[in-house]
Amino acid sequence: MLLKENMELNHINNLDFAKRMQVLEGEVPVDYFQRLNALLDMSGLNEQSKVAYKVVGQSNKLQLPSLHLEIDASLPMLCQRCLEGLHVPIKLEFDYVISEEMPESLDESDDADWVEASVDMDLQTLIEDELLIALPIAPLHASPCKQLKLEVGDRVNPFSVLKSLKKD
Ligand SMILES: [Zn+2]
Repeated sequence: MLLKENMELNHINNLDFAKRMQVLEGEVPVDYFQRLNALLDMSGLNEQSKVAYKVVGQSNKLQLPSLHLEIDASLPMLCQRCLEGLHVPIKLEFDYVISEEMPESLDESDDADWVEASVDMDLQTLIEDELLIALPIAPLHASPCKQLKLEVGDRVNPFSVLKSLKKD
């Protein structure tokens, strides 16, 4: 088993990777993914904003060579209720069967997905694609938003507003 950690995501020979049951894991900053960045609140980037990944080659778990992929990310986005920043945790796991053509036995109800056998599979694109699919369209703070709570606490008395208008 090969354990490799680095900042750059690699291209792999996926069939070979699976047959040798290799493992590749690491962590990259969120801003490494350009397509994803367009959907994020980049002003909210901080040391939390990372994408951790682990790719495990499996020779015969699904009767075929396959890859197991885990993604653990914290993405800076804007809350669609209060428009303040928040970090959206995203944890994903996938199994991909590797073959030249999509196996007939694999249908949409299966737990496994399919990737084409490739000597130069781009892990960055794969991980970014999965993050783009998983990204919430309208992220919200889990508990009531801080800003909204403040507004409720500082509620202005409508009569005092009227009074101040009359003075003018
Ligand atoms: Zn909010």
